[in-house]
Amino acid sequence: MERCDALAALTETPGMVTRTYLTPQHAAANRLVGSWMQEAGMSVSVDAAGSVIGRYAGRRPDAPSVIVGSHLDSVRNAGRYDGILGVLLGIQAVSDLHAAGRRLPFAIEVVGFGEEEGVRFGTSLIGSHALAGSFDPAWLDIRDEAGLSLAEAMRGFGLDPRTIGQAAHQGGVLAYLEPHIEQGPVLESLGLPVGVVTAICGATRKRFRVEGVAGHAGTVPMGQRRDALAAAAEMVLAIERIALETGVVGTVGRLGVQPDAVNVIPGAAVFTLDLRAEQDAARLAALAAVDRAVAQIAERRGLSWHGETFHQSPSVHCAPHLRSVIAEAIAACGLPVHALASGAGHDAMAIASLAPVAMLFIRCTGGISHNPAEAVLPEDVAVAARVLSGLLERLAAITDFAV
Ligand SMILES: [Zn+2]
Repeated sequence: MERCDALAALTETPGMVTRTYLTPQHAAANRLVGSWMQEAGMSVSVDAAGSVIGRYAGRRPDAPSVIVGSHLDSVRNAGRYDGILGVLLGIQAVSDLHAAGRRLPFAIEVVGFGEEEGVRFGTSLIGSHALAGSFDPAWLDIRDEAGLSLAEAMRGFGLDPRTIGQAAHQGGVLAYLEPHIEQGPVLESLGLPVGVVTAICGATRKRFRVEGVAGHAGTVPMGQRRDALAAAAEMVLAIERIALETGVVGTVGRLGVQPDAVNVIPGAAVFTLDLRAEQDAARLAALAAVDRAVAQIAERRGLSWHGETFHQSPSVHCAPHLRSVIAEAIAACGLPVHALASGAGHDAMAIASLAPVAMLFIRCTGGISHNPAEAVLPEDVAVAARVLSGLLERLAAITDFAV
């Protein structure tokens, strides 16, 4: 908890927590986290994408690895636990092994990724994609708000963008484990400190444009209007109903009206849809239902509409064998095991192409995150630390048997 506070002090905006990718504050966080990794008995490096990596060798030098990680970057005006906690829990687990003079049949690598949030360059999971070997070289040309390209920012950080491919993990990876705050209210509502994640939800983002006819707010009778906003309002409610009925989550987060004047009937309305579900089939079915509802509402009201999907990501399912091991480690703490899906994206999504992934969620107060009010209970963090250690021990037992 003290380390979370120390990292929170490394911020671009005094009085709040903001630590974006490849900034001096990111470098300072890497140095500080690197020093803790070293204290815990790990050898420390920073990879070609700026992720800090601590390595605690296994019993044999050629042993495969288990990676424990999450991200060290934050949103603007963030809390102090999102991402951070997963990295620090990994260091703690290694520190305990080191103190006991023990090595496991696998190496443990603790990774603190950068640009998970996508705040600086608008592309999320950059550090984890680089480790997974799926970094897209086109990203090097993306510019931040100040006009600096990712390649230039990397050079400023002391990295060589030409070597980005070297960030790809070499050697066998048995598992990627990511402890993370839940960022939602489910565990709190159940009175549980931790939960095992089933999957990271897939997502579709779509932009809708509804065209009606702008007109005088005083002269056009109600029965003769083609009000784009009234239609959009009906569509928003249809989305809410479809989401409730199909068990997905659907959000209209943006809504714009044209011409946006007090005395003009809205001639056009533009809104976004964010749809997420654990099962891709459920998400796609809900999406089709939304399209049908939008078409019906538009037709009944005599309006035209257009929809454009601008983001689509499939769900990532946590490995069943790792989920069971996490469940056993939770049960061994005398706690009920609750499995839940992650509605938010995480580094595990990118790492899933490299290794089987699993996540442990930690209750956060009020389900609040991406907010300075983000909070966790120290006793919950202690439980998460016990579960992570127990989980590594269980994996060691299985691996010993398998190797
Ligand atoms: Zn996070």
